[in-house]
Amino acid sequence: MKELILHTLRQIRYPGFSRDIVAFGLIKDIRVEAGRVEVVVRISTKDADVPKQIEAAIQEQVAQVPGVTHVTVTMELTPPPAVQGPAAPQALPGVKHIVAIASGKGGVGKSTVSVQLACAIQQLLAKQGLPEAVGIMDCDIYGPSVPLMMGISQQPDIVNDRLVPVSNFGVQIMSMGLLVDEYTPVIWRGPMVIKAIQQFVSQVAWSPLEVLIVDLPPGTGDAQLSLAQSLPLSGVVIVTTPQKAAVQVALRGAALFHKVNVPILGVVETMSAMPQPDGSLLDIFGSGGGAQAAKALEVPLLGSIPLDPHLRAGGDHGIPIVVDHPGSTTSIAIMRIAEQVLGMLEG
Ligand code: ADP
Repeated sequence: MKELILHTLRQIRYPGFSRDIVAFGLIKDIRVEAGRVEVVVRISTKDADVPKQIEAAIQEQVAQVPGVTHVTVTMELTPPPAVQGPAAPQALPGVKHIVAIASGKGGVGKSTVSVQLACAIQQLLAKQGLPEAVGIMDCDIYGPSVPLMMGISQQPDIVNDRLVPVSNFGVQIMSMGLLVDEYTPVIWRGPMVIKAIQQFVSQVAWSPLEVLIVDLPPGTGDAQLSLAQSLPLSGVVIVTTPQKAAVQVALRGAALFHKVNVPILGVVETMSAMPQPDGSLLDIFGSGGGAQAAKALEVPLLGSIPLDPHLRAGGDHGIPIVVDHPGSTTSIAIMRIAEQVLGMLEG
């Protein structure tokens, strides 16, 4: 019964956000006695309407669970912290789902996955009649490679003090790399980086988006934690290579998102076995890392992207492989990952 109720509560979204009230960590207790159910909610908000809306939604939804005869909702309102803690997630106006792409360390192909996934989801949404409903935000301040991979170099326009994304391949693009020169982040210290990224995130004027892909800085430090807390993320995709040694790093990255209740949608393995002309596979970076990380995290392995020179070259030339060679094995693998991610968001 408790499981059924928890499942029902997961369908209730926090007003104004795409994440549910369970994911936000609001449910403190569920007590069941015969058919009588008490749901204890602990919430900290300045908006008096939010607890009312959540209470009404719980009453309505839980009453429909088979066997439930009576529902009580106990609201524990805690005052918002007086000292400034981590920024509460602010909804990005006009943006429906935000998906972060993360890796425990740099150089594993995170930006490549971000770019390819954004373009692949754009193609899927275009088929649904939404040709410009995907954005990519490059927060990888130490190595902002999204502009290069997406073939753009122009500075974004500023209208009414807000940055206007640059578009290519139907994807709206914004990158820290378009704003700072390549040496700046190196001399910034942690808190400056966090502040710069948070400010950056809140000052982009996206046209309405179904999905915003966020390329996070690599690692498991304060910058990632702060971003994960300040963005209303629908979920995160963890990127790893097939190497066994990479798994521990990927798990450390994932732990950070557990801490802030961001759901992990799945694992993407990249730089996986490279198909050879004779049909055999060459495991340059070993094998099994993605499956192992997915198993340890109890999330799906969304797919494996092979090590592919065309993928690398497309990145360097600014034309993503799913745009340039949509029929290739690599593009098909990426499309399958995109379908699953979109399915999870829309489901
Ligand atoms: P990160 O964002 O994790 O630092 P990148 O996405 O920038 O990593 O990838 C690092 C390098 O590896 C880039 O030159 C990229 O083109 C290349 N690369 C990434 N994934 C693949 C792949 N599956 N096949 C071939 N090259 C790849």
